[in-house]
Amino acid sequence: MRRIHLSLLIMEVPAERVLCLREFTDAFCHDLGSRSRRVSPNEPRKGREVAYNPSPMERRLYIETYGCQMNVADSELMLGQLGRAGYRRVERAEEADVILVNTCAIREHAEQRIYGRLGELTRYKLRRPGVVLGVAGCMAQHLRARLIERVPQVDLVVGPDGYRRLPELIDEAREEPTLGVRLSRVETYGELVPARADGVRAWVSIMRGCDKFCTFCIVPYVRGRERSLPADEVQRQVEHAAAEGFREIVFLGQTVNAYRDGEVDFAELLIRANRVPGIVRIRFTSPHPSDMTDRAIDAMARCEKVPPHLHLPLQSGSDAVLRRMRRIYSIDEYGRLVERIRRAIPGIALSTDIIVGFPGETEEDFEATRQAMARIGYESAFIFKYSPRPGARSAEWPETVDDREKTRRITLLIEEQKARSLRKNESDVGSTVEVLVEGPTKRTPTEWFGKSRHFKTTVFPHRGERVGDLLSVRVAAATPHALLGEGVRAAAFAAVEDVPA
Ligand code: SAM
Ligand code: SF4
Repeated sequence: MRRIHLSLLIMEVPAERVLCLREFTDAFCHDLGSRSRRVSPNEPRKGREVAYNPSPMERRLYIETYGCQMNVADSELMLGQLGRAGYRRVERAEEADVILVNTCAIREHAEQRIYGRLGELTRYKLRRPGVVLGVAGCMAQHLRARLIERVPQVDLVVGPDGYRRLPELIDEAREEPTLGVRLSRVETYGELVPARADGVRAWVSIMRGCDKFCTFCIVPYVRGRERSLPADEVQRQVEHAAAEGFREIVFLGQTVNAYRDGEVDFAELLIRANRVPGIVRIRFTSPHPSDMTDRAIDAMARCEKVPPHLHLPLQSGSDAVLRRMRRIYSIDEYGRLVERIRRAIPGIALSTDIIVGFPGETEEDFEATRQAMARIGYESAFIFKYSPRPGARSAEWPETVDDREKTRRITLLIEEQKARSLRKNESDVGSTVEVLVEGPTKRTPTEWFGKSRHFKTTVFPHRGERVGDLLSVRVAAATPHALLGEGVRAAAFAAVEDVPA
């Protein structure tokens, strides 16, 4: 048994597990769920190198990211922090002195994949014992010392509030296994400059943590209490991202619209960001329905850079289930909110999160969800099978819907949503949409893609456009997941699933 240096922990969060299914891979909100893809802070960056400051003592860092956009943003934060400490990013784990895996804990599925990956990465340590293997993020916070017990080759376990001290923690981990899992009530990393990955989109975490404590959710236990970045810092980050050449800002927070810094609320942040030259789109995820004020809706309507798309998690269409989930809105209140939003922003595209099989969900409750989805008419949806997450309240309740029935329910919702998404996308055929160009599709380099203002993946034949251009594309065909511009070859119909999310 190795001695573990504690740097230091507080909250006791039992291990385990959420299982999910994910649909509609091109929606932009959070969890990358069942695909649990590795994100690419290690991808080569063209023309926008920041933050790295190689020194004679240069050390080489490899980082892999799993999970939601918040984790992507956190990896960029870590890259910035370590870059200032003299680390240089490398693209292959075998070249690195420090290997970091930034993890997700929202589902057990993600944890299992990460365990598998850690198993692979330990071989680099066996070859070169001086290598530091670190686990960061929500799974690190969730499992803490148990992670080192399970994978003894892990030298460092650092939670989402430990990144400021990352260079010191890594140094400590060279001597002995180290934990940096203290949750903070104040840490926002506001003034730390992240090393952003190339692309059109800059993630800006405007708040951290969550105070809602929905009964199914582990986030408040692994990301701590809600806190907002100072408004001046947010504005500085937006301006900095614009100066670096990013075209789209995405404000991130678990309840992003609960943002507040003194007199500055979420609406005011949108208004201020809207004035920043160079930025052409401002998005955000995820807003909580109960924090969606008229001021925020009005700001969305008035700010021309805020496109007509909103991800508004519903979770269930049944009041009884919503109450047990502690979602603090009723289905009527949610419906009235949607009406207000649609009145203010006609034609807005809505997407959502749904959980099926929550404890106590009856056939009637499920029907209510089905009907709510049809009534509201989402453009796309992330649909998950409930699975208990020990540490979250509902994990103490008996499961009443077996896996077979959850599968039946989720399959039905996915099929219905797919048909609905297809109908909605087909109604765009013949129209012209404005696309923010992101780059080539994976399979057909001559066919590029970007997002429309309604956040629909749009594929078009490349004719010299550059990443970050705004392009008018005439829509010739549609799939449930994408719009296809005139001149897109039939192969692209199959390939649209492959565009980088
Ligand atoms: N803050 C967002 C909100 O309030 O809607 C949600 C963030 S959560 C990280 C992303 C989604 O994961 C949730 O909206 C929910 O649908 C799903 N999720 C969270 N816990 C889950 C669980 N125990 N089982 C299944 N799905 C879960
Ligand atoms: Fe989890 Fe609810 Fe907070 Fe969203 S609002 S992060 S679902 S506790």
